[in-house]
Amino acid sequence: RTVYVNGEYLPEDQAKVSVFDRGFLFADGVYEVTSVLGGKLIDFAGHAARLARSLSELGMKAPVDTDTLLEIHRELIARNGIEDGLVYLQVTRGAADRDFLYPDAETPPTLVLFTQAKPGLAEPDRAAKGWSVISIPDRRWGRRDIKTVQLLYPSMGKMMAKAAGADDAWMVEDGAVTEGTSNNAYIVKGDTIITRHLGEEILHGITRAAVLRLAAEAQMKVEERSFTIEEAQGADEAFITSASSFVMPVVEIDGTPIGDGTPGPMAARLREIYLDEARRKAV
Ligand code: PLP
Repeated sequence: RTVYVNGEYLPEDQAKVSVFDRGFLFADGVYEVTSVLGGKLIDFAGHAARLARSLSELGMKAPVDTDTLLEIHRELIARNGIEDGLVYLQVTRGAADRDFLYPDAETPPTLVLFTQAKPGLAEPDRAAKGWSVISIPDRRWGRRDIKTVQLLYPSMGKMMAKAAGADDAWMVEDGAVTEGTSNNAYIVKGDTIITRHLGEEILHGITRAAVLRLAAEAQMKVEERSFTIEEAQGADEAFITSASSFVMPVVEIDGTPIGDGTPGPMAARLREIYLDEARRKAV
């Protein structure tokens, strides 16, 4: 596999980052994951815009402009022959002698990109069963709207889900669901889609924005507000969205089946209209 590191395309076993990199020592970095279908990028513009926002919230400079970033994505897709899969991108504040204070502004950031092949990523059978989720307390830091590489707690959450025989964990804070370990959470009651409002408590999902826009265009009702696990367990449907899972039905929460315990029609319809537009607009 060819990866990209600071201006160079290299075989993955020759790519190197300093042991003093602040991403490694302080999790002082941000990332994006963009999916690839049919060799093309899904919602690249949305991911590039969120990356710019994450960098600016942390006082970091963009290592390259958006056009160059798109070129790098496309070059890696081509070199690695990716049909369906993901492009992972990470920017850190660069390498400097270990100090809690940020290094001076001239320190070059570290930019790394690599691809992951996921044949059949958007195939219907991936969403045929739906996910079961457990609930866990949300123990992450308070600026979840910034897509930092501090993923230890979400990683622990995935392990807790696996140990419980579930597919993912929904995190709960002050009695309300924030989001999944790496996705935004939704419930459906009657003809209304309910998902938590934006704020510093959740990541502003690129898939979330597209799905809510498409839902409104299809005359579906959307409420952006908090909900509890109990409300979710009594809902007609539940689902999650993310760049890598698109729209994924949730069929069980903490052992309680949602609706009849099978993927619901609203999630299926949203998955279809989301993937349809995503493919048409892919770059
Ligand atoms: N919430 C969290 C915590 C995430 O890590 C992610 C994606 O990785 C999402 C939500 C979904 O965001 P997106 O749709 O941009 O992938």
